[in-house]
Amino acid sequence: MQIRLSAGTAAKLGLRKFKFDIPMPTAYFMVGERCVFNCLYCAQARDSRADISRLSRIVWPGYELSDVMEAIGRHNPFSRFCIQTVSSPGYREVLQALIEELSGLGLPISLSVRPLDMKEVREYFSRGIERIGIAVDVVTPDLFKKYRGGNFENHIELLFKAAQEFKGRITTHVIVGLGETEKDVIDFIYQCRIRNIEVGLFSFTPVKGTGLENLPQPDIRTYREVQIARYLLKKNPRYYEGFLYDRKGKLLSFGIDITSINIDEAFRTSGCPGCTRPFYNERPGKEIYNFFM
Ligand code: SF4
Repeated sequence: MQIRLSAGTAAKLGLRKFKFDIPMPTAYFMVGERCVFNCLYCAQARDSRADISRLSRIVWPGYELSDVMEAIGRHNPFSRFCIQTVSSPGYREVLQALIEELSGLGLPISLSVRPLDMKEVREYFSRGIERIGIAVDVVTPDLFKKYRGGNFENHIELLFKAAQEFKGRITTHVIVGLGETEKDVIDFIYQCRIRNIEVGLFSFTPVKGTGLENLPQPDIRTYREVQIARYLLKKNPRYYEGFLYDRKGKLLSFGIDITSINIDEAFRTSGCPGCTRPFYNERPGKEIYNFFM
């Protein structure tokens, strides 16, 4: 049975020979390939022509599950496992096998998945998953329909229901740079914050062969502002009341002096505890959207 590992995870496990000395407490696994859904920004989308071994700009080489478990048995440098699922036909069987193997190791497991209903969410938690990531990615109904497909309201309802039933155990992913305003994304982060949903922020990253291969990455300034807003809301959701915007939804002020905030912390990769996703959105040597060190 084959699964994929992020190239960094494979290197840390000694399965791929390249020097990777960046601290990475979470191991990243990928199950399934070529999704039944067709998110226009995703390398794994149904109609994508991107290399099948990619997710965002990361390469995910494939390995036999038994070889991966053997490598982890020899040397495990991780404190969390994260499984990214691609909703392709038959993915559930492989996912089940991987969860069974990993749950025997006693470390927390995050599962990023597009569940159909609460029954599916409950089933994963009953198998020992610690946190579930239900990615929204696109934060407005119109853009969701255009780039992701499906019903935004139904998706959000499931995310919020899961957060209500499994308090403090739900994460979502949000992509900045798909045409939303700063207010759109910050409002959404606030809605998540008051429901105790962790938000993993991603910068849109064009991938060759996807429907949005020609869309540029968001301006770093915009991304930094959203990161600061997320950071402040995480500290205290009441900061939301002080945020000021112009008519187009551009953030004008945080309502407080931000010169003393801990920038390293604000710009750090967000999401589940210990998630760093190094180089997921950035090329080595270029602007780093999410600090991972
Ligand atoms: S935030 Fe990180 S660890 Fe959590 S589901 Fe997303 S990628 Fe995985």
